[in-house]
Amino acid sequence: MKDDRLPFVRCLMASLLVAVVVRAADPVKVVATTADLAAVARAVGGDAVEVTTLARPTEDAHFVDAKPSFIKIANQADVLIEGGASLETGWLPPILDSARNPRVAAGAPGRVVAAQGVVLQDVPAALDRSLGDVHPQGNPHFMLDPVVAKTVADTIATAFCAVDPSRCSTYRDGQARFRAEIDAKLPAWQAALAPFKGAKVVTYHKDYDYFFGRFGLEVVGTLEPKPGIPPSPTHLTALVPAMRAQRVSLIVVEPYRERSNPDFVAESSGAHVLVLPTMPESKEKPDYVTFIDGNVRALAAALEAARTP
Ligand SMILES: [Zn+2]
Repeated sequence: MKDDRLPFVRCLMASLLVAVVVRAADPVKVVATTADLAAVARAVGGDAVEVTTLARPTEDAHFVDAKPSFIKIANQADVLIEGGASLETGWLPPILDSARNPRVAAGAPGRVVAAQGVVLQDVPAALDRSLGDVHPQGNPHFMLDPVVAKTVADTIATAFCAVDPSRCSTYRDGQARFRAEIDAKLPAWQAALAPFKGAKVVTYHKDYDYFFGRFGLEVVGTLEPKPGIPPSPTHLTALVPAMRAQRVSLIVVEPYRERSNPDFVAESSGAHVLVLPTMPESKEKPDYVTFIDGNVRALAAALEAARTP
């Protein structure tokens, strides 16, 4: 009996070994909620990871159209990267509940919350979702600050190492390369926006505060009375004279917003409207540095045009 079973056991062990070897060479399946996190994950993981993004880059990250296909994608993920700080609260939890994937459950090594390790702006004294404020834990739109993106790359690399220790050196190399790329670009970005230091801008939603703050621009108001609450006539009527008094020359709007309110405020205040991406959108080169580079150029050009009488 023993002799009969031995070849079977040997065969089983051999196939298990093959399975382990194949598994080790497979790319790690990474799911990112948004395109900016996906871009950083690709920069860190390179060919060792296969990254899928849930939200479209032209979609409001707070209100993503959650498709049934997201459940299967989340079910098969080795790593799930979310922004956190309530960014995805409106749509991600039901997907993860249905996906039933312990590898990406809260607290598992495969669950990455980018906000951990980031100092958030506008953190309220107490958690408060009253009146529909979609930033109850502070402003979650930190990925537009390239310096913060380096911290997120560190967090992602550490998670990749925990999930796939055999390729940890690959991930640490990717992390170092990403950091170096940002450091190399930062002086040029700062120089491009230096002539506009102290310029006051208004935005639709608090999407660009970290980005503008990094380059010395000041966000003095939003078209939304509170994050996630649509512009109201009362709010806009008060905003227009405040913008005139503070000489605001630019209203910065996300690509997915309606234009009637921004256009009305622009016309009433004399400011210009700039539509600025919040995520890497390019199909050919959706990388993070190209995205920030494009935004810096577009912003510098719009500020220049707005101050020319
Ligand atoms: Zn928001």
